[in-house]
Amino acid sequence: MSPPEPEIAVRVRALVKTYGSTRALDGVDLEIPAGQVLGLLGPNGAGKTTTVRILTTLLRPDSGEAWVAGHDVLADPDPVRRRIGLSGQYAAVDENLTGFENLYLVGRLYGRKRAAAKARARELLARFGLEEAADRPAKGYSGGMRRRLDLAGALVAEPTVVVLDEPTTGLDPGGRIDTWEVIKELVADGTTVLLTTQYLEEADQLADSIVVIDKGRVIARGTADQLKARVGGERLELVLASADDLPATLRVLSDVGTGEPAGDAHTRRAEILVETGPKALIEALRRLDAQSITVQDVGLHRPTLDDVFLSLTGHGAESREEPK
Ligand code: ATP
Repeated sequence: MSPPEPEIAVRVRALVKTYGSTRALDGVDLEIPAGQVLGLLGPNGAGKTTTVRILTTLLRPDSGEAWVAGHDVLADPDPVRRRIGLSGQYAAVDENLTGFENLYLVGRLYGRKRAAAKARARELLARFGLEEAADRPAKGYSGGMRRRLDLAGALVAEPTVVVLDEPTTGLDPGGRIDTWEVIKELVADGTTVLLTTQYLEEADQLADSIVVIDKGRVIARGTADQLKARVGGERLELVLASADDLPATLRVLSDVGTGEPAGDAHTRRAEILVETGPKALIEALRRLDAQSITVQDVGLHRPTLDDVFLSLTGHGAESREEPK
């Protein structure tokens, strides 16, 4: 089997992995052009972690091919390990060491000389906004700082491909945005990134292209815009002055839109997908007005990646929390 062209940094072909009767991966194909971010999305148990573990040489598939930075992951794992960085939810940070010590240690483990390991640690701490915290034990760091340190650890060896496995799960919105900034910088430097995430907004912000997997198979791929276009139409959203009007409003919405309307008495919101955009909006407002229903706010929105996910898998992404 010949390696992919140099402009393809990651190639996975027909990957199959079974656990007993479970087909964790059932023929997954994906490709990441060098310097791009691929978002790998899927509900719990879809096969994301299995894919990540195979690419990072931690697990062997039953069949299929995987290439990273021109090297065959299965036949030649050593050069792959030198070229790939992994950062994830299970932060590889030693809490008792300082930020500097953590990164210095990783550098030494990768065989750097003392001075070079120190210099690289200081450089990464500065880049990740951890200079001031550098000499404090990591156990005093916030969640966001720990993630940044973990990400820095994955970059010590200057990998050409970085795998980010749910890099912002559990972070507050501020920590998430900080981490996104760091990831954007990484890509600006030409690093190729495979990103798994359960936050569709994260894929929307960061990924050049997206692969959606479910039950070990690829069920959709494309840019965020292409995936959104597949859902079609727009979402008509209303906020009512009174929750009492919700049942009547949902009846109006189901007349002007397609599919089932959704409503929430607590937030007084109602919504539905519409194919005719402004025309449906005007018709809905006309009918609500005729019933003396007061609308506080109204808007037409393009489908979000959440809508895409829902239409592809039949359930939302962030509501998939299950104990592992
Ligand atoms: P999550 O979002 O929960 O991490 P995932 O998309 O990463 O999900 P995987 O962890 O790759 O999914 O799991 C894919 C399937 O393989 C699931 O059905 C899972 O139960 C099964 N599986 C994974 N690892 C093992 C294992 N070591 N033994 C048995 N079954 C496994």
